[in-house]
Amino acid sequence: MTDVILKNAQTVLTMNDQREVLRDVDLRLRNGVIAEIGTGLTGGRLVDATRTVVTPGLVNTHHHLYQNLTRAVLGGQDALLFGWLRTLYPIWARMGPEHMRVSTQLGLAELALSGCTLTSDHLYLFPNGARLDDTIHAAAEVGLRFQPTRGAMSIGESAGGLPPDALVEREAAILDDMIRVVDAFHDPSEGSMCRVGLAPCSPFSVSRELMRDAALLARDKGVMLHTHLAENDEDVSYSLATFGCRPGQYAEELGWTGSDVWHAHCVKLDGQEIDLFAKTRTGVAHCPCSNCRLGSGIAPVRAMRDAGVKVGLGVDGSASNDMANLWDEARQAMLLQRVARGADAMSAYEALEMATRGGADVLGRPECGRIEVGKRADLAIWDVSGLASSGSWDPAALVLAGPRQVRDLFVEGRHVVAQGAMTTLDLPQVIQHHTKLTEALANGD
Ligand SMILES: [Zn+2]
Repeated sequence: MTDVILKNAQTVLTMNDQREVLRDVDLRLRNGVIAEIGTGLTGGRLVDATRTVVTPGLVNTHHHLYQNLTRAVLGGQDALLFGWLRTLYPIWARMGPEHMRVSTQLGLAELALSGCTLTSDHLYLFPNGARLDDTIHAAAEVGLRFQPTRGAMSIGESAGGLPPDALVEREAAILDDMIRVVDAFHDPSEGSMCRVGLAPCSPFSVSRELMRDAALLARDKGVMLHTHLAENDEDVSYSLATFGCRPGQYAEELGWTGSDVWHAHCVKLDGQEIDLFAKTRTGVAHCPCSNCRLGSGIAPVRAMRDAGVKVGLGVDGSASNDMANLWDEARQAMLLQRVARGADAMSAYEALEMATRGGADVLGRPECGRIEVGKRADLAIWDVSGLASSGSWDPAALVLAGPRQVRDLFVEGRHVVAQGAMTTLDLPQVIQHHTKLTEALANGD
């Protein structure tokens, strides 16, 4: 592959160990990594970066891509978590492989345009022959670094669970398929474009045994674990009533703490649980827009970070956020901590750090999320010559004054977004197909 040289970047937020901010430099991308940072670089395809801010690609640590077919569903727009789920489960039960494929294409494009180069996905229902494979093949086409997780639900309504019986699977079949997808798709190498994780949906939709067995399997295979935890008060009450303990304790008892585990939301972690997560290096996917949308509360992110908990950001499923712009999450994370703790509770730079380096650390990818020679060439280039940043005295404080979308995006040195457009797929065509699928679902097909 020819070298790419980003020429004359006005500001580079490196997010390296010293959090250096570089001015007026060039970057050379070669063979998927950042090969050189300096001035006067030549000998490659030049991309003008004058009047831009260059950041590490943003990292999304929590999502359910399939849900972008059910944004703003009537009846779910104003519901709390459990009521919202009950509205949506019957619609999701009508999906199949094509829905998974097209929603992945659309969702990854949406993320890419907001600066995201690495995303996880949490797929926990497999109706009508859908498989994790559908999302993995689609992601390979789009070109984002992908960490899909094989989710699962096993306790249906008839057994006292929340989801309808048609959407749950037998636990033995779940474990078999977890083994299948890890063996088929997980690439543990540095710079890997696909790493698979295991992710029972939540403590209220699978058994204690499946939580424990998934943890044992993940350790055996060397893959990561992911689930939803302590999302709101109802969630904590359910844990206390059903398991006789708080969510953090439940997680600990079943092997769900450690540097290979990350939990989504954690809005209601208490001080002891925060200490537990810090001590065990357990990660958190903070999803501020989703938490606001569902009225779940404000996650104690300031306290988590002060205690040393690894925190990344997540857009969460498009049905509980309706938008999947990772830049928005960084801004919302900053704003919420200020609402809770005052104007100095979180800076724009810290919010961006969580969105980049923070997320990469949560997903076990220290080779991503920083701009340094030898790190992966995952870069977001933000044009600060336009409307959103005009008048800004500090354009690098990106989440204070936009832009909300990238001009260019590189993943593993590959130009995935160029001048604001996807290079790897025909986005208008994907939107058209996606709209047809959405209309069919809305019509009950
Ligand atoms: Zn979620």
